[in-house]
Amino acid sequence: MKISYSRLAEYSECPRRYYYRYVEERSLPKQSEEMVLGSILHDLLKYILTPALLPPTFQDAERRLRSLLSGKVGAERMAEAIELGRKVIANLLNEDTSRILAIEYSFSLALSKHLVTGRMDRVDRHKDGELEILEYKLHSQRGWRDNLQLVLYHLAAESIWHPPSIKLTLVSFIDNEKDSFYLKESEVVEGREKIINLASGIERGDFTPLRGDHCFRCPFYTVCFKEFPPERESLL
Ligand code: SF4
Repeated sequence: MKISYSRLAEYSECPRRYYYRYVEERSLPKQSEEMVLGSILHDLLKYILTPALLPPTFQDAERRLRSLLSGKVGAERMAEAIELGRKVIANLLNEDTSRILAIEYSFSLALSKHLVTGRMDRVDRHKDGELEILEYKLHSQRGWRDNLQLVLYHLAAESIWHPPSIKLTLVSFIDNEKDSFYLKESEVVEGREKIINLASGIERGDFTPLRGDHCFRCPFYTVCFKEFPPERESLL
């Protein structure tokens, strides 16, 4: 089956939530301001770092920031969002763009009988041939090192560019901190199996609820607990 990594991530957190969202296509509440801000900063990343004959100036980028924020962030948070956006613009304009190989690079990767799609925020090629995949997040999150998305990027980069080595770097927009590391071969093999198992679970139609703390943030909490009341959970 062909599936995007973002859908696999949803399925991995809870197969039933995936079912409500993508099989039954139930509507979701409006995106949080934090998610809106994250997507605006990714837009700026692409705007500033995509190689161009005439790269944007700080003023160009700030104009774009203000127009992207308009109507999406409440008046009470606008000044804070502009301040943060200005900091991010200054940091991005300071980046060495000479080694950038790709920005917002979309790929499809065949894994067993599945085709998994994804998009890398940024890929750099260093002088020694090493590839660096940079994933931008709003905040620093060390827990992200264990994310299957990074394994998928590693596998995709290996199959597309065949580099001698692959470095993964998590970048925080807010603190401009970079956390770089390499995956062990065993982590790549194990992660690959997990990704294949997730896609196979969707293909089989296994949408068993996975209860956890995430249930309290779930937009389908009411329907799920009605359909699968706690007293019936031992039967699931
Ligand atoms: S309430 Fe919990 S178990 Fe039910 S769909 Fe949401 S996350 Fe899954």
